[in-house]
Amino acid sequence: MFRVNRLPMATLMFELEDKVKKVVLSGASGKMGCEIVRALQGEHDLVLAGAMGHENSKALGKDVGQLAGVGELSIPVTDRAGIGPFDILIDFSRPEAIAENMELCVERGAAMLVGTTGLDALDSERISSAARHIPVLYAANTSIGVNLCAVLVETAARALGDAYDIEIMEAHHRHKVDAPSGTALFLGEAAATGRGLAMPDCGVFTREGTTGPREDGTIGFSTVRGGDIAGEHTVLYVGERERIEITHRAMDRRIFVNGALRAAKWLVSRPRGLYGMQDVLELE
Ligand code: NAD
Repeated sequence: MFRVNRLPMATLMFELEDKVKKVVLSGASGKMGCEIVRALQGEHDLVLAGAMGHENSKALGKDVGQLAGVGELSIPVTDRAGIGPFDILIDFSRPEAIAENMELCVERGAAMLVGTTGLDALDSERISSAARHIPVLYAANTSIGVNLCAVLVETAARALGDAYDIEIMEAHHRHKVDAPSGTALFLGEAAATGRGLAMPDCGVFTREGTTGPREDGTIGFSTVRGGDIAGEHTVLYVGERERIEITHRAMDRRIFVNGALRAAKWLVSRPRGLYGMQDVLELE
C-alpha cells in the first residue's frame, strides 16, 4: 500500500524553499527593472521578494508586476524601510542609491549585484569595503558578449602594441544620462591593461578646438546619443596600413538581464568578496 511519509515531504519542501533565493530589485520601475521583473517570471531558482524605487518616484505604492506588464504580483514599489527578508539585491538604479543599498545588504548579510553605472571613486571604495562583509558583484555591463569582448580587447592591445592607436566609440539611446558609458570605460580599462597602462591616466574624453596631434599611448573615447539605441561599442586599433575593430551591438536589453540573472544565481551562494562577470563566466 502507498504510504505518505510526512517528515521527508516537509524536509523536501524546506529544502526547495531554501534553494529558491529571494531577490530585491532597486530601480524596479525603470527600464532594466521592469525587464528583470518580466524575466524573473520564468525563473525557478530566484523569486522576486521586493521592489525599491526612488522616494519621489510616481511608481511608489504601485504593484511592480502591473508596471512590468506581467499582471498583479502583490509586490508594491517601496522605499528601503518597506523591504522584508531577501538573499540578494539587484541594483539597476542611480549612483545616489548605491551607498544606502550597500548598507542594507551588509546589515541583512545579503549579496548585492551592482549593475548601475556612472559610479565615482567613492562608490568604488564603498563597494570594496562592503565586499569585506558580503558577496558583491559589480558589472558595468552584464552581457556575456561584452565580457567576452573585454578579454579580446585586452589580448589585442597586448599583441598589437604601441604601433596601433586605440579609440573607443560608443552609442546609446537619447535618455542615457552618463558618458562615456560604463561599458566604454570597462573596455578602455581592458585595453589599458593590455598595454600596461593605467586608466584614467591614458584616457582622452574630449577633443575640441586646436587639440594638437594625437599623443602616443592615449586611448580616445567618443560618444553618440540618440533614439532607442540599446548600446553599441567599438574598439578600434588604428595602424599605418590596417585597422582592426572589435564591435559589440546590443539589440535588446534582455542580453543584460540574462547575464544579470546568471550572475545573481552564481553570486548568491558565494563567500564574501568582490567579483566581476569574468568570475561568473570563468573568462580569466
Ligand atoms: P531608468 O532611468 O529607466 O531606471 C532607473 C530607475 O532607478 C528608476 O526606476 C528610478 O525611479 C530609480 N531611481 C532613480 N534614482 C534613484 C535613487 N536615488 N534611489 C533608488 N532608485 C532610484 O534606467 P535604466 O535604463 O533602467 O538603467 C538603470 C541603470 O542601469 C543605469 O545606471 C544604466 O546605465 C545601468 N545599466 C547597466 C547595464 C549593465 O549591463 N550593467 C545595462 C543597462 C543599464
